[in-house]
Amino acid sequence: MRTDVLIVGAGFAGSVCARVLAEAGRQVLIIDKRDHIGGNAYDKVDEHGVLIHPYGPHIFHTNAKRIIEWLSRFTDWRFYEHRVLASVDGQLLPIPINRTTINRLYGLDLDEEGVAAWLERVREPRDPIRTSEDVVLNSVGRDLCDKFFRGYTRKQWGLDLAELSASVAARIPTRTNDDDRYFTDTYQFMPADGYTAMFRRMLDHPNITVQLNIDYFAIRDSVQANHTVFTGPIDAFFDYCYGKLPYRSLRFEHQHLPDTEQYQAVGTVNYPNDHDYTRITEFKHLTGQQHSGTSIVREYPQAEGEPYYPVPRPENEALFKRYEALAEQRRDVTFVGRLAQYRYYNMDQVVGATLKASITTQENIRKK
Ligand code: FAD
Ligand code: UDP
Repeated sequence: MRTDVLIVGAGFAGSVCARVLAEAGRQVLIIDKRDHIGGNAYDKVDEHGVLIHPYGPHIFHTNAKRIIEWLSRFTDWRFYEHRVLASVDGQLLPIPINRTTINRLYGLDLDEEGVAAWLERVREPRDPIRTSEDVVLNSVGRDLCDKFFRGYTRKQWGLDLAELSASVAARIPTRTNDDDRYFTDTYQFMPADGYTAMFRRMLDHPNITVQLNIDYFAIRDSVQANHTVFTGPIDAFFDYCYGKLPYRSLRFEHQHLPDTEQYQAVGTVNYPNDHDYTRITEFKHLTGQQHSGTSIVREYPQAEGEPYYPVPRPENEALFKRYEALAEQRRDVTFVGRLAQYRYYNMDQVVGATLKASITTQENIRKK
């Protein structure tokens, strides 16, 4: 096998990079070990006719105009603002914690200023803020921490909040008003025809060849490329020479409910304290699809299996840095994406990182 550029992985990182390099005149071969494009953002119509996300709910949100504009070349959008309720003490309450959450949980009737003063009384100020426990205790105190965060985090990561970097819990803000949106980004949209359709258009270019069901490690020695873009787990690329980097996995349990217009009031319900799964998502909320039945997914976190999440904590970051040092010596390979950069990236951040990496990649190819 011979190609100008070989791209490993057809998710956001691989596909965005493929398009940029193809438009710059490079011949690109993009491979994926799975039987589809789109990586974890892949969506498909299930056997009952409902559009689902096989790898869990993917909601697009960004503050970066540049990124939404770049993707808009390949899709129209459907406006969608995600809302999440958490099942706590027998009630379904807004998460991120807001005024409604606090008033309902504690039987209060506080206004915004009242909530701010209440939080000031219950919070446990922490300085410095190093862990996710510090973040949560510092903003909402122990009772809300134990009810909304400790159990969910233990399930999701198999770790205590105190064992995770601050950046994990910092994804979830605290609000004193009634805003119950999960995200507050300027642009919150779903691709109008789904993610896979968007990826198909992105990869539809005369300079791009897509080959599926190919594991890079099975062909690594037989492929000749001037440059490689690797978007899989960085430790695998270097044959785990410094040991395995921890990635968290999930098992997805999909279910279709016939003759059920709606299963739950919002897109996602979180279960911090009950069940082995963390959350249930009902896809029709996200996609706006009309159907007499509905399809849902439960997420069961697990240690083994496909790598989905890097695990943000200092010792893992230190191990990643050792792999990153090896990566920096490889001018012939670009490492980009959630698994290769070992960052808890959202989709838009992967697009941003890839557009940036594509520029360096082109410079490195030219210097050869
Ligand atoms: P991936 O999508 O993982 O793509 C990597 C690809 O490389 C895969 O297709 C894999 O099969 C392939 N690959 C790996 N190794 C090899 C190999 N050896 N040979 C060939 N191919 C290989 N982000 C949001 O912005 N909003 C959300 O709501 C959201 N929800 C999420 C929910 C879940 C459950 C998960 C797990 C993630 C979520 N994300 C969300 C994050 C989002 O999935 C990622 O940011 C994005 O998809 C990462 O793109 P990527 O290309 O870096 O990696
Ligand atoms: N989290 C929590 N309770 C919740 C929601 C989130 O404890 O109800 C914590 C948990 O540690 C989780 C992290 O915040 O892993 C980030 O949540 P997010 O919803 O951003 O996770 P993702 O959608 O990326 O899985």
